[in-house]
Amino acid sequence: MSIAVTNLTKRFGNFAALKGVSLTVESGELVALLGPSGSGKTTLLRIIAGLEQPDSGSVLFDGEDATGRHVRERRVGFVFQHYALFRHMTVMENVAFGLRVRPRRVRPARDEIRQRVLKLLRLVQLEEFGQRYPAQLSGGQRQRVALARALAVEPKVLLLDEPFGALDAKVRQELRRWLRRLHDELHVTSVFVTHDQEEALELANRVVVMNEGRIQQIGTPENVFHEPADAFVMNFLGNVNVFHGRVVNGRVQLGPLQLDCATPGVPDGEVARAFVRPHELDVDTQANGNASFEATVVHINAAGPQVKVELTTTGGEHIQVEMTQERFQALQLVVGRRVFVSPRQVKVFVDEQP
Ligand code: ATP
Repeated sequence: MSIAVTNLTKRFGNFAALKGVSLTVESGELVALLGPSGSGKTTLLRIIAGLEQPDSGSVLFDGEDATGRHVRERRVGFVFQHYALFRHMTVMENVAFGLRVRPRRVRPARDEIRQRVLKLLRLVQLEEFGQRYPAQLSGGQRQRVALARALAVEPKVLLLDEPFGALDAKVRQELRRWLRRLHDELHVTSVFVTHDQEEALELANRVVVMNEGRIQQIGTPENVFHEPADAFVMNFLGNVNVFHGRVVNGRVQLGPLQLDCATPGVPDGEVARAFVRPHELDVDTQANGNASFEATVVHINAAGPQVKVELTTTGGEHIQVEMTQERFQALQLVVGRRVFVSPRQVKVFVDEQP
């Protein structure tokens, strides 16, 4: 089932939570709503679900207006951050719940429900746990039960709100991969909310970046990461160094450096911010002919696949650099060492007028 939302607005009192949001989710897609706290992600998800009514705009399911349609008629499955499982019910009873409460004429027979629940428990790899109660499960297992419960009613759309938010980093990562595989298998149109950029980039077919009630950018993970539409998206999608400069002859003057603008058409004289990701800065112990500026090593963290090196420029700006362990060994960097830094990839955005 495809979803099309058009020009949604929503106010809570004086506060505009959504300011004209339009978005299409194709049938079978897995889309992430990514943004900082308060950007309107949950409000958008709740409107798609039918749990909240927009002030204006429409929600279409497969081209049909669903705006006035009740939650139950939308065939939507939910998974929330806090696995609201029924504590007094076993795992099997929890998963069967949505089917058992159906009106008699559309309720599957007892044995059919049992077979369907067992199949779902196999799918979420919890076959052995059917007779346990939620309190006897780990957080990750409970979240998988919540997902099985949402899938039991064969939803046309699956909506997940920070589904792994309450779990620790390692379990989150495992569940992410697991959800990706599950989605590859089932192809249920899915929309999930997260404020974790890594989660969005790893899981989604497309990422919707939201800020202050608006969509800043929609694109594939590669697209939003490598071609951010603006400074907000660039900043939000990972660590970044920011340099302040001015545009001269179509190039950005950053202290001693003149850099090509990645963004074309920036007029001369504009104040510009240049963004460089830590792994896109080359460091050398001698000037090597590339345009570079000098800096001093102030901190080194070599515990990880990449070595993180913190530098201070002669102007007192802090810079983060990431390099391979091999490069780090070759340079023999130590704290206090003077180095030459040259950016490989720079994205320049002209500061928006207030
Ligand atoms: P988070 O990641 O913190 O959940 P979010 O991007 O999902 O944030 P929303 O939950 O959509 O953001 O909220 C957007 C804004 O609307 C917030 O400032 C929030 O305080 C406000 N808001 C949401 N629901 C209500 C409500 N029922 N009454 C009043 N204000 C609300």
